[in-house]
Amino acid sequence: MRKERVCRVWWLAAALALWPAAARALDLSAEERAFVRAQPPVTVCVDPDWAPFEWIDEKGIHRGIAADLARLAASRVGLSLELAPTKDWDESLAASQAGRCRILSFLNRTEKRETWLLFTAPIFSDPNVFITREEHPFIADPAQLSGERIVFPSGTAMEENIRRDYPNLRVLTVPSEAEAIAMVSDRRAEMTMRSLIVAAYTIKGEGLFNLKIAGKLPDYANRLRIGVRRSEPLLRDVLNKGVASISRADTEEIVNRHVSLTVQADTDYGPILRVVGIFAAIAAFGAFHHLRLRRLNRKLERISQTDALTGLPNRGMIDAHLAREVDRAQRHRRDLALVMLDIDHFKAVNDDLGHLIGDRLLVEVAHRIRDTVRGGDIAGRWGGEEFLVVCPETALHEAMAVAERIRAAVAGGNFAAGRAATVSAGVAAFSPGDSVDALLQRADAALYRAKAEGRNCVRTA
Ligand code: GH3
Ligand code: MG
Ligand code: MG
Repeated sequence: MRKERVCRVWWLAAALALWPAAARALDLSAEERAFVRAQPPVTVCVDPDWAPFEWIDEKGIHRGIAADLARLAASRVGLSLELAPTKDWDESLAASQAGRCRILSFLNRTEKRETWLLFTAPIFSDPNVFITREEHPFIADPAQLSGERIVFPSGTAMEENIRRDYPNLRVLTVPSEAEAIAMVSDRRAEMTMRSLIVAAYTIKGEGLFNLKIAGKLPDYANRLRIGVRRSEPLLRDVLNKGVASISRADTEEIVNRHVSLTVQADTDYGPILRVVGIFAAIAAFGAFHHLRLRRLNRKLERISQTDALTGLPNRGMIDAHLAREVDRAQRHRRDLALVMLDIDHFKAVNDDLGHLIGDRLLVEVAHRIRDTVRGGDIAGRWGGEEFLVVCPETALHEAMAVAERIRAAVAGGNFAAGRAATVSAGVAAFSPGDSVDALLQRADAALYRAKAEGRNCVRTA
């Protein structure tokens, strides 16, 4: 059942973009205002394991795109939400039916669910796409395939649809999204169908870069809504006004917070929305399909190489880049240096100001680093609050200068909540014969020295 909700992101953003601004105005009736005033926090059941849409974190907080959207819709009309925790989505559905929570945060409307739920307008939409291995041909019409295996997490709406519409496919089921995608990567199935956003997230998380988007069915987009128990039509009406008040910019900002498209969003989100919007229309035109899919695949590739929080290249991408540069330095006897950076006493930021401010500070420091490095250098997020700058054609003393410039830029900055921050830096230069690991180890040892010698300084091993 849970999978139906899978896929709504971009569609919804597109839909929101088309809504007239007037439709978003918040005008609660007197009855609705009185209702809102009388409300305790509204209990909400969620899917605890459906990143990046929603999950429950280790502190028991509801997080993700759905969490932020639902909270925003509720807060716009003056309601607050209270999580009724469950261990999985099935338990959430059961709790909702039993009245242990008043709303479900994010789900598709289905006939079965309508027996006990009312739904708001869609709060989010995104397309479902076929995911295959790289070598699989483009899927223009799934009816033409014969006997290929398509794997789903069990109980999804998309599984039902495919069984009904494409009896020529062999449907397999597994317990989780990650397993479905792994089955395709490992050749135990030819394809799966997933939400674009969930697919990108899972592929990145699992490092399954041999996969691609091979096609899309226009009728298979998901439209996610808030579900409200049938006994509470007024609550649904009020929430609907909150949902209607969410602008395209709100949605983009929230999606960007959780998916790494983000950083490029300012300039790049428009094209994506257009691609998605056009999808329905191009279903009939195979040639266009190819073009659009190529763009989607490029987008997927970019997502998979980008750190979701900071928008910097992620560890996988930096690893690959570093391996190439070490190889080049070796083969052509070129200089190469690394600067490894770690934010000083970052734990104290989280402890003093909370994780969210910690995140913001981390992002701001990351951007300061990115904006300070030179043209040919690549700065990526190496882990937690650590960054790695790869500096091709750079000797040790030059890299020391790069590191010092970054250190000074961060130390002179003013970050989230007016907080200052500093970084320590370790610098290492490539010597002929070095492996990637040897070079990294020297940078790490240098960073350790910088920490030991007082922090907010640059050292070499
Ligand atoms: P040091 O100067 O020795 O580096 O001290 P530190 O506090 O920065 O180092 P430590 O390794 O003790 O703690 C790192 C902290 O960074 C702990 C971890 O919770 C936090 N952290 C790592 N990644 C993130 C993140 O993405 N967001 C937030 N808010 N905190 C993070
Ligand atoms: Mg640190
Ligand atoms: Mg650290």
